[in-house]
Amino acid sequence: MDLTFSPDEERFRAECRAWLEANVPRPALPSGDTREGFAAHLEWERRLFAARYAVVSWPEEYGGRDASLWEWLIFEEEYYRAGAPQRVTQNGIFLLAPTLFEFGTDDQRARYLRNMASGAQSWCQGWSEPNAGSDLAGIRSKAVRDEAAGGWRLSGQKTWTTRGAFCTHLFGLFRSDPEAERHRGLTYFLVDLSAPGVTVRGVERLDGDEGFAEVFFDDVFVADADVLGEPDQGWAVAMATTGSERGLTLRSPGRFLATATRLIELYRERGDDPVLRDRLAAAYIDAEAYRWQTFGTVTRIVEGAGTGPESSMVKIFWSELDVALHDLALDLLGPHAELLDGPDGAWMKGYEFALAGPIYAGTNEIQRNVVAERVLGLPRR
Ligand SMILES: Cc1cc2nc3c(=O)[nH]c(=O)nc-3n(C[C@H](O)[C@H](O)[C@H](O)COP(=O)(O)OP(=O)(O)OC[C@H]3O[C@@H](n4cnc5c(N)ncnc54)[C@H](O)[C@@H]3O)c2cc1C
Repeated sequence: MDLTFSPDEERFRAECRAWLEANVPRPALPSGDTREGFAAHLEWERRLFAARYAVVSWPEEYGGRDASLWEWLIFEEEYYRAGAPQRVTQNGIFLLAPTLFEFGTDDQRARYLRNMASGAQSWCQGWSEPNAGSDLAGIRSKAVRDEAAGGWRLSGQKTWTTRGAFCTHLFGLFRSDPEAERHRGLTYFLVDLSAPGVTVRGVERLDGDEGFAEVFFDDVFVADADVLGEPDQGWAVAMATTGSERGLTLRSPGRFLATATRLIELYRERGDDPVLRDRLAAAYIDAEAYRWQTFGTVTRIVEGAGTGPESSMVKIFWSELDVALHDLALDLLGPHAELLDGPDGAWMKGYEFALAGPIYAGTNEIQRNVVAERVLGLPRR
């Protein structure tokens, strides 16, 4: 493995750095998990898109730069280094888009990719239901064929839909063949949330932000053109989306390296404790290790291999690393960690969100089951 970046890649890094330094909003935008903050973040997404930084690795026809995956990683490192806003378009650009590239029709790519990259359409994920979280194959929301109208009628409820209250579209799984075995008979739909029969109800989180929604479907019509992949084959399509979420695109190493670097600054300002210093060194090493591990993944992808069940190991690693980094920040801040206003407040907010990492994108217990059975080949019982 050649670990040096080429002169072109270094030039690209310098360009990204200069643009971000000149353009990242200061002071920081309000939380993207509030209505007003979401709107401010979409405005930022429009600026990124106009400068062709929204989706650097996509083809130019969809608003990208045809950049390599290496350049995408460089952009991500610079993005987090600059302290740029969270990506409220992430469910679209990082999760749905790779699935659209793999399974979508030309018509779907034309209708959705540029719009999600520019922030004109915003996507939320509709997997979980009140009785189907870890056991995703247990979903009960239904899709009934409407042959005459050339599509499907959806009914049921999705829950824990991140930023669902602000999004224009939802992608998710619905049971299209109730007779089929659990993992079969599911279809992946692309749904316009303004369609008649959709009700979206925001849910306030413990931190006060309206970050979640419940989405109700009452005989909602979706045309055949908005089935992603084949009818009844949605499980395989959904696994591609969740693989992206766990494995590479959702949490790039730049995010954790930037946090670890800020922790070093925090320690230099406030720290004076050899035990905390040791924890800091270990956390920084883990963030670097995740970077090198990702380089290995990208090398395999560039050579034509997929990510596979190993993405579950990656998800366990980044989610636990995020908790460790923020836990250490709170210990460094001591009683100041409780102050939510002011510059220290971001650490507590980050800590609260980090605690959700072992739950979202499939809980870490479930990921450990996947690693045991599908990576290590251990028996199911
Ligand atoms: C911040 C955040 C954002 C989210 N965003 C979305 C979203 O946008 N869209 C969406 O659809 N969902 C979303 N979710 C929901 C998330 O996918 C579910 O919370 C998760 O899959 C767990 O499901 P559950 O909450 O029903 O818990 P359960 O499945 O009821 O699990 C409860 C506990 O039992 C454990 N458990 C369950 N089964 C097993 C097993 N077989 N072996 C070992 N342990 C087991 C779990 O690990 C967990 O600790 C989000 C969740 C969070 C926290």
